[in-house]
Order: sequence, then C-alpha cells, then structure tokens
Amino acid sequence: MKILVCISHVPDTTSKINFNNELTEFDTNGVQFVINPYDEFALTRAIWFQEKQGAKVTVVHVGDASTEPTLRKCLAIGADDAIRIDAVPTDGFFVAQQLAEIYKQGEYDLILTGKESIDYNGAMVPGLLASFLDIDFVNACISLEIDGTTATAETEIDGGTETFTANLPLVVAGQKGLVEEKDLKIPNMRGIMMARKKPLSIVAPVEATAVTEIERFEKPAQKAACKMIDANDVDQLIELLHNEAKVI
Ligand SMILES: Cc1cc2nc3c(=O)[nH]c(=O)nc-3n(C[C@H](O)[C@H](O)[C@H](O)COP(=O)(O)OP(=O)(O)OC[C@H]3O[C@@H](n4cnc5c(N)ncnc54)[C@H](O)[C@@H]3O)c2cc1C
Repeated sequence: MKILVCISHVPDTTSKINFNNELTEFDTNGVQFVINPYDEFALTRAIWFQEKQGAKVTVVHVGDASTEPTLRKCLAIGADDAIRIDAVPTDGFFVAQQLAEIYKQGEYDLILTGKESIDYNGAMVPGLLASFLDIDFVNACISLEIDGTTATAETEIDGGTETFTANLPLVVAGQKGLVEEKDLKIPNMRGIMMARKKPLSIVAPVEATAVTEIERFEKPAQKAACKMIDANDVDQLIELLHNEAKVI
C-alpha cells in the first residue's frame, strides 16, 4: 500500500502573530513553524500502517525552501520519502491542484490529510483534492482501518459516531482520534540521522490558478484588563456586568 500524507507547515500556536504591508501579509519574523497538528495525527496513523502492514509512506508539501525542516521532521518521525512542490501556497484551490498532480504521478492507494490547517483554517484542500481526482472522501475521521482494498472509517456525528466502508483509493482527512496524542512520535536521534539520508525531492509546480486573494488581515480586539472586586460585593459585580460589560 502506498500512502501520501499531505503536510501543512503552520505557526506554532504559541507564536506572536503580526501582519505587515498594510495588514495584507503575514509577518513570519520570529515565528516558529511546526507540522500542522491534524497532519501529525495523519502521519502517525500512516506510520502505523507502515509498521504493521508494510505500507510505504510519502509526505508531500506545497511550500518554499524555508519549509524543508518540517519535511525533515516528518522523515525523522518515520516517513520513507518526501516531496516538496516548490511554490508559495497562495490558496487552497492552488494547493489541491498541486497535490492532485503528485497523486496522479505516484499511483497512491490512500491520501491522508488533516481536517484543516490551523493557520488559515480553510478546510478546503482535502475535499477539493478528492473532487479533482474524482475519488471518495472521508472528512474529520477519528478511526481508520485498511483491509486489502477496503477502508473502514469512523467519523463523529452529533452525539455519536458513524462507521462506514469505502474502497481505495480514498482521501481521508484526519483529526484527534485517528491516533491519540500519547501515540504521536517524537523524533529520536536515530530518526534524525536517518532523515538526513532519506530522499526529499523538489518538484516544480504545475500551472494552476488561485481563486482567492487576501484583502486584509485583522487581529482580534485586545482583551480589556482584568478588574478585581471584593468577593462579597455582589452589588458591584452586578453593576459592572450590567453597565460596563453589558452582558446582563
Ligand atoms: C487568500 C489566501 C492567500 C494566501 N496567501 C498565502 C501566501 O501568500 N503565502 C503563504 O505561505 N500562504 C498563503 N495562504 C495559505 C495557504 O494558501 C494555505 O497553506 C493553503 O491554502 C491551505 O490552507 P487551508 O487553510 O485552506 O488548508 P486546509 O484545507 O485547512 O488544510 C487541510 C489539510 O490540507 C493539507 N494541506 C494544506 N496546505 C497544504 C500545503 N501547503 N501542502 C500540503 N498539504 C497541505 C494538510 O493536510 C491540511 O491539514 C493563503 C491562503 C489564503 C486563503
């Protein structure tokens, strides 16, 4: 089985976010980047299939050279090889078209993605990818088993779960539950050394058009300072909630 895991390279959630160029560009200065957390669940499940069922795991990312440490980390975690499509990802439509091309060239059985990337939170890429390739798609998957060419997947529904089967090839967008957080792999020294020798190929993007364009970013309003009041002063609490916070 050949598995393609799509990796998004995102700011660490603890990073301080700023914008420049009249609020139209994300300022990457001083920002630490990590593997998108949902993609880490997908990659860990792929490595499980590699270890238990002999799958070959390829990671793919659309991004410029600055994103290579993220791909090397995926290799250190256990991916067999990596592909970087050398382009700045301008929108989900563009990214999905690039990934579709890689799939067509590699004849993969399974494409694993995260359910969304935690930077732009578009949640567009997996669905678009499945639609461009005209193959089935399971979104927000919390459990995945493969037996031959049949996948059994579980997703969350309101108040419960839904289990269904589908034939490979398939696009599966994963989330927590696909593996548990305790199962996520931290690269060890051996993995890091091996990652240096694993293949990381760089391919040129195919001609594709972005359909969206950023007009402006805006940060949420600053939180007001915390006001301490006497625990027994209920009248003041009500007065502040009514007149200042205006929530009652
Ligand atoms: C209008 C707009 C302009 C943008 N401009 C820029 C820009 O100038 N520079 C820039 O760096 N980014 C830019 N981005 C962000 C970039 O386009 C996103 O990385 C990409 O669109 C996917 O984001 P998403 O939130 O739709 O992904 P989602 O659909 O939320 O991602 C779901 C899954 O798809 C896969 N995936 C997502 N992105 C990638 C990727 N790049 N490679 C491989 N797999 C991936 C991952 O598995 C991820 O978990 C822009 C985004 C938008 C919407």
